[in-house]
Amino acid sequence: MTEPRYVFAPPAGPAVAIAGAPDLFPVRRIFCVGRNYAAHAREMGKDPDREPPFFFTKPADAVVAGGATIPYPPLTANLHFEGEFVVAIGKGGADIPPGDALDHVFGYAAGNDLTRRDLQNVAKEMARPWDWAKAFDRSAVCGPIARAADIGHPASGTIRTLVNGVEKQRGDLADMIWPVADVIAFLSQAVRVEPGDLIFTGTPAGVGALAPGDVCTVEIDGLPPASVTIAPFASAAATR
Ligand code: MN
Repeated sequence: MTEPRYVFAPPAGPAVAIAGAPDLFPVRRIFCVGRNYAAHAREMGKDPDREPPFFFTKPADAVVAGGATIPYPPLTANLHFEGEFVVAIGKGGADIPPGDALDHVFGYAAGNDLTRRDLQNVAKEMARPWDWAKAFDRSAVCGPIARAADIGHPASGTIRTLVNGVEKQRGDLADMIWPVADVIAFLSQAVRVEPGDLIFTGTPAGVGALAPGDVCTVEIDGLPPASVTIAPFASAAATR
C-alpha cells in the first residue's frame, strides 16, 4: 500500500495571537451571533426579543490579526465595522448546559465583524444566504486573546469602536441579549463546539461605513484592542 500524499502542501492553519505571550491560538471555525444587542437590532429594523440567537459563519482563514492593513474588499460600496466581544473556545462539547459553558472558554478578544452591508441588504430582501455579505476574505478581525485563566470571564465592561479616533459605537457587555454562557449553550446544540472555535457575539448600536485609509479600533475593557487599517485605494491592488 502506498501512503496517500497531499497533491499540494496543505496551507498553514489560521491563528490568532495570545496576549502577552508568543503563543498562537489555532483557529478552527468562526461563528457569529446576529443581533445580540437590543439597540443594534432596532437600528437594523428589527424588534429586539428573546428568540433564540441565530448564527452565521465565516471561514477560519478570514481571520485577520489586530494591527493589520487590509484592502477595501471587492463587490461593495458599503463596508461596515461591527465591534464585537469574541469568545475563544478551548474545550469541546455538545449540548453544554449554560451553567457549565464558561468552562469551555479559553479566553476573550476584541474583534470586528466586517460586513459588506449593501450585499447583506440585498440578501435579506431576496431571502438569500448572508455568506457574500459576511464571509469574505479578511472579514474577521481579531485582536490578541486574553486567557480566561488570567482575566476571568467578563460579564460587563465597555465595548466601543473608533474610526480614526472618533467614537462610533459604545455599549456594555452586560447589554447582550444572550450572554456568553447562553450563546455557547445554544451553539453547542447545533454543532459540537471544538477547541479553536471563535464566537463573535454580536455588535452594539452605531455600525457604520469604513473608507479606504480609515483606521478602525475596537476597544473592550480589560482586553487588548483590535485595530484594522483599510488600505488606500491606490495600494489596494498591490495587496489583493
Ligand atoms: Mn456582527
